[in-house]
Amino acid sequence: MLRERLSAVLGLPDSGTVLNLGLLHPGTPLFQPVMLPHPYVKCNLRGYDPHAPDIVADYEAVVGRLPVDQIAGSSSRVIALARYCLDRGIVLRPRGVVASHEHMPDSGRRLVEEAFGCPVTMVYMTSETGYAAFECSRRLMHFQDDFVLPEIGPAGDGGDGGSEGVGAIVLTALLSTPMPVIRYVTGDLASQPIDCGCGLPGTVTDGLLGRARTSLVGLDGSAYSPYALLAALASAGLPDFQVVQDEPGTLDLVSTGPADAADARVRDINTRLDAHFGAQQGFRLRHRPHHDFQFTASGKRNPVVQHLQLPDTTERSGYL
Ligand SMILES: [Zn+2]
Repeated sequence: MLRERLSAVLGLPDSGTVLNLGLLHPGTPLFQPVMLPHPYVKCNLRGYDPHAPDIVADYEAVVGRLPVDQIAGSSSRVIALARYCLDRGIVLRPRGVVASHEHMPDSGRRLVEEAFGCPVTMVYMTSETGYAAFECSRRLMHFQDDFVLPEIGPAGDGGDGGSEGVGAIVLTALLSTPMPVIRYVTGDLASQPIDCGCGLPGTVTDGLLGRARTSLVGLDGSAYSPYALLAALASAGLPDFQVVQDEPGTLDLVSTGPADAADARVRDINTRLDAHFGAQQGFRLRHRPHHDFQFTASGKRNPVVQHLQLPDTTERSGYL
């Protein structure tokens, strides 16, 4: 029902084709008919990998060869598809681009919108409740309160030591009678609810900040909230990035796009970190433009990959 509502908001045709770049089970066929919320032909593509001949063959067989009404998938895969199309001069003109699962940096969103001539709509879902919220035309996230009722806790609720104004998302599914889901603590964070005059109902937040359970480890062993850093990187205009930590005080920044421009952004951010932390504290970025993005066992790409044991201390924030 929530997907039906999203289809109506996006103005998707009653039938058509969708390029699906979501997480796929092994053995999922390339083409599949789907009936709900509307009869569509779903074309299932894995994340683009130029080193995987079977994936390259799938992309060559499909992308640009048939009209596409909708593109849906995880943010990183949709960004990769946009880059694939831009690099090859392939023009796809879907009516809707729906991205889920991960935070999408503003710069990545611009790339996708340039490639497909269509705004990106972010969708928020959890495996326990399914779809819970989607973005309106003003890019604010509207929870669909009549399906999944949200509560956004006060700052730091849920033991995450969250940043100011940011609280834990707790969801109650109102339609799941066989298995009630009541006040489910998602582990994700959002900024406090605000008003939006766009006309779409529901509890509105202007920021979903992703998984709460990743800290950065400073040179002195302190734990730092990653959100200020992620916000600074997103606003620096990097097309796509990931922060990976293997040693205290140093964060490897994996990025795509022109390396020189990203180097300059990294220097700016390090200058600000230097000014805040001084010599023996906090962390600095180390740019790794040629490293690959890292994925979880289930194929999800998180903005922060932490390989260190986290210290048992309260997370610090407010460093940028
Ligand atoms: Zn709105």
